[in-house]
Amino acid sequence: MKPVCVLGNGQLGRMLRQAGEPLGIAVYPVGLDAEPEAVPYQSSVITAEIERWPETPLTRELAHHKAFINRDIFPQLADRLPQKQLMDTLGLATAPWKLLSDPSQWPQLFAELGDFIIVKRRTGGYDGRGQWRIRPGDETELPPEIYGESIVEQGIVFSGEVSLVGARNAQGESVFYTLTHNLHQEGILRTSVALPDTDKRLQQQAEKMLTAIMDHLDYIGVMAMECFIVGDNLLINELAPRVHNSGHWTQNGASISQFELHLRAILDLPMPQPKIYAPSVMVNLIGTEINPAWLSLPLVRLHWYEKEVRPVRKVGHLNVTHADKETLKKTLQTLASLLPTEYQSSLQWAQDKLS
Ligand code: AMP
Repeated sequence: MKPVCVLGNGQLGRMLRQAGEPLGIAVYPVGLDAEPEAVPYQSSVITAEIERWPETPLTRELAHHKAFINRDIFPQLADRLPQKQLMDTLGLATAPWKLLSDPSQWPQLFAELGDFIIVKRRTGGYDGRGQWRIRPGDETELPPEIYGESIVEQGIVFSGEVSLVGARNAQGESVFYTLTHNLHQEGILRTSVALPDTDKRLQQQAEKMLTAIMDHLDYIGVMAMECFIVGDNLLINELAPRVHNSGHWTQNGASISQFELHLRAILDLPMPQPKIYAPSVMVNLIGTEINPAWLSLPLVRLHWYEKEVRPVRKVGHLNVTHADKETLKKTLQTLASLLPTEYQSSLQWAQDKLS
């Protein structure tokens, strides 16, 4: 098996490494500041757990590497402007949007997009940072440097958020997990629920959209597509050319995890449709210290990233999978008593999704 170098050494790289181990695939997550000599990149397939990176001695080396999978796709998806343009080109539904270049645009933007507008930095915004919710009057508070560097989107009133995680291989074959229901608070994913018996019509709609995107880009590996549910339809919110937080439940709730699926796709290994065993819930651990008491619950699978705990920082997640939804709900109730107040509403939301 060829080794794999992952650009970026955060939790996604760590979980890719963990997924490679049983298959005998050596995965090396590398920080951007690593010395090129210290990385076995020449004999490796290269992938990334991040979407953009500065020029460093290592990234300069990799820029010309023949086995850097999807290299030219990252810049296209890491910037919200070409990403939105791509959706428009393919005729895929997305929140109506405009490039924000000058404060004089505001009256026209409110007239066209309505009174609830989201400003998003083109690059670099994540986990609730680099985004502003604007109602008429609020625009004066925006930092001046965002003009030219941001897009605006119509604020969408949605009934729910889902994501589709899929993978495509070099032969152009794609497989998908079941749609994952996601709850975000302050722009950060708190909890995901995946059900094997998902709405078939929405699933088909989502698969058609993501297939169109991956085929158009000739993409290889795992990609995630986040959507809003509006009426009976999906609007694409954003695309991530990598393994994704909303797919973490697949580590314990699917026959092949998203991390293993990504490795299989980029190494051109067999990539059958993963089987989904049972309903799964994933709870992100955000700014919370590890609590060994979680492990007293037999269904709880802890994935701890060994990062320093800081407010609003993802430091781990808990996966819970069981065929019986009532058993799953009982575990979530007990778990709630072992987690701080800010987890309570999302754990309740997950229980409601299982009802
Ligand atoms: P993003 O970083 O674009 O994934 O946004 C994070 C979260 O903010 C989304 O999952 C939504 O909950 C919310 N959000 C983003 N864009 C919009 C929008 N156009 N309308 C309403 N909510 C949004």
